[in-house]
Amino acid sequence: MNEEKLSKRLETVASYIPKGAILADIGSDHAYLPCYSFLNGLISKGIAGEVAEGPLKSAKKQISKNQLDYVLEARKGDGLEVIQPNEVTCISIAGMGGSLIRSILDNGKSKLSGVERLILQPNIGASTIREWLIEHDWELIAEEILEEDNKIYEVLVAEKGNPQKPYKNKEQELLLGPFLLKEKNPIFIKKWTHELKHWMRILEQLKAAGETSENRLRKQELEKKIELAKEAL
Ligand code: SAM
Repeated sequence: MNEEKLSKRLETVASYIPKGAILADIGSDHAYLPCYSFLNGLISKGIAGEVAEGPLKSAKKQISKNQLDYVLEARKGDGLEVIQPNEVTCISIAGMGGSLIRSILDNGKSKLSGVERLILQPNIGASTIREWLIEHDWELIAEEILEEDNKIYEVLVAEKGNPQKPYKNKEQELLLGPFLLKEKNPIFIKKWTHELKHWMRILEQLKAAGETSENRLRKQELEKKIELAKEAL
């Protein structure tokens, strides 16, 4: 992967960047996404945010190598700390766990004014992001599921709007994704068949471990998720 040829995962993220956007890519690492997006005419300018020194250095190097310093800036900071309100129109956060993405959004709420689109790619735990979006009036407008190098990824795209709009059977759709559930493509089936087997194994282990109040709660949660996934498959 480089700034000219992105991974399928980041290419999918890029495909949702509105043309002419001012992008903040948070947790940008090598800044491949902002560089690619500018070189392909998707964005007018951008910021690569990084909390860690090594990846920040890589981002700066990548931007300079492509002579894009006049339109792209790598900034060091935690999450949305690197942007000002109304500075960007689109934020991408990719390649992290869902809880971390959620906390970045939550800690940076005050920086979201002027942001028209969020493109979020959690490696795991997409449901916690869906919950956050609903709680903060962001409407999920699209979802993708894809497989690359034997890993399955989800991409969530949201805009300000009616957060309830995509949901009919909320509990199930929060877990599985309202758009993904409707589409039920082979990668979706593969992911949830695998998860289901995994949960059923854990459930058996919990049952064998005996009855504690903590176990009882975990079992209830798992049984609910198993039921929701089974219904969908
Ligand atoms: N976004 C790139 C991608 O999808 O290929 C890089 C993903 S990499 C696995 C995660 C990056 O996020 C790391 O470079 C890490 O330093 C950065 N990161 C983690 N937590 C962060 C935070 N709170 N704020 C900014 N960057 C963060």
